[in-house]
Amino acid sequence: MTAQIYEERRNQIHRKGKKPFAIECDKESLAGAVSQRACVFCGSRVVLYPIADAVHLVHGPIGCAVYTWDIRGALSSGPELHRLSFSTDLREKDVIFGGEKKLHDALIELIDRYQPKAAFVYSTCIVGIIGDDLEAVCKKVAAETDIPVLPVQSEGFKGNKRAGYEAACKAMFRLVGTGDLANISRHSINILGDFNLAGEIWLIRDYFARMGVEVVANITGDGRVDDIKRAHGAALNVVQCSGATMTLAEMMKEKYSTPVIRVSYFGIEDMAESLYAVADHFQDEEMLAKAKKIVREELETLLPELKKYRAALTGKKAAIYVGGAFKAFSLVKAFRHLGMDVVMVGSQTGTKEDYRELQEITDDGTIVVDDSNPLELSSFLREKEVDIFVGGVKERPIAYKLGIAFCDHNHERKEMLAGFAGMMNFAREVYGSVMSPVWKLVPRKQSQTTQLGVSEAARIAES
Ligand code: SF4
Repeated sequence: MTAQIYEERRNQIHRKGKKPFAIECDKESLAGAVSQRACVFCGSRVVLYPIADAVHLVHGPIGCAVYTWDIRGALSSGPELHRLSFSTDLREKDVIFGGEKKLHDALIELIDRYQPKAAFVYSTCIVGIIGDDLEAVCKKVAAETDIPVLPVQSEGFKGNKRAGYEAACKAMFRLVGTGDLANISRHSINILGDFNLAGEIWLIRDYFARMGVEVVANITGDGRVDDIKRAHGAALNVVQCSGATMTLAEMMKEKYSTPVIRVSYFGIEDMAESLYAVADHFQDEEMLAKAKKIVREELETLLPELKKYRAALTGKKAAIYVGGAFKAFSLVKAFRHLGMDVVMVGSQTGTKEDYRELQEITDDGTIVVDDSNPLELSSFLREKEVDIFVGGVKERPIAYKLGIAFCDHNHERKEMLAGFAGMMNFAREVYGSVMSPVWKLVPRKQSQTTQLGVSEAARIAES
């Protein structure tokens, strides 16, 4: 095996300090490069999955549904319909004669059995090829059952994961504006782009409640159809993970004039800034004072604890590869609090602005990479002699195979990492993983592959 950085991908890698900032991104993945990205359908599924009182029906072969079953650690405070994965299980006969009747019958049966508040119907690759009219079937079933039945035009081949986010937002936008606006406070927000992993949205909602801010709709963590229907009544959309739900926020801004702010709930600065930004928006001194009180109280507990971890972790090196770039910004800052250096950072779906911001907040020599793949990532981890790799389920084996510590910061995780409590968990997890005695028994792999990877990376640096 030879580690490679494909010629066609060279412009998607930037090394800070070597040249003026320039990076190519937001483009289709290179065929054969085994991108870490998921398909369009998966992109829409991860966004809509946490809406807990809706049926989620995957119109396609069973494999698509299995691939995305229970895909997030998104908790619900009530119904758990989202955790069931339904599929029309299209087979050869359906591909030849069409799957519309099967889809209709499946929807009627599911709605009859589970009495959901709405149904989302996901289109997969084969549905795009055989041309089933999802829109028409959904419209018919909606009329027959009197609930919203929403087509999600997410054929897997239609683009990359970002296109899936857009398909999900377009489907949700059909719900927005159909609910009752009675009794919504003028200090109200929607939380977009938090998916309630390990209960994180409950923590964030609690901060806002302590500031006197009403949350109209969670979009989509612990989400409810009726709340999304009245989301247009909120005074502000607070958007995290801009890739996933920003399209919905933009559509609401255009149609309902709902202003938008972009935040992150990860790390100390970004969590505090999120609370302050909401208070600033409402121009409310009392609200701002409450936000400051929350931050002060939380930091009184957190900072002394962090000091202990910082003492052990100072000088260790971290690499970050995540889905959306917003998380990477917060992680760079979070690692600084632990005295650690971020030597590589990348994302699956970052924009040029995202990468520009990333290179601004990182140190010279840091590798910034868009839409990477396992061989590239392995090369970078070895070259930089990384102590911990932060990523998701597809990055975990890369780290472990190289004998490197790993921290799961993706949507499958079961640990709360948002908010001030989440920063504490993050520090504890990084410390536990980096300092684990297991690494004495599993030495880091240094092989011919390493040399090839480094030399290749060096060649890029020089070019
Ligand atoms: S790429 Fe197509 S076939 Fe594969 S999981 Fe996605 S929708 Fe299904």
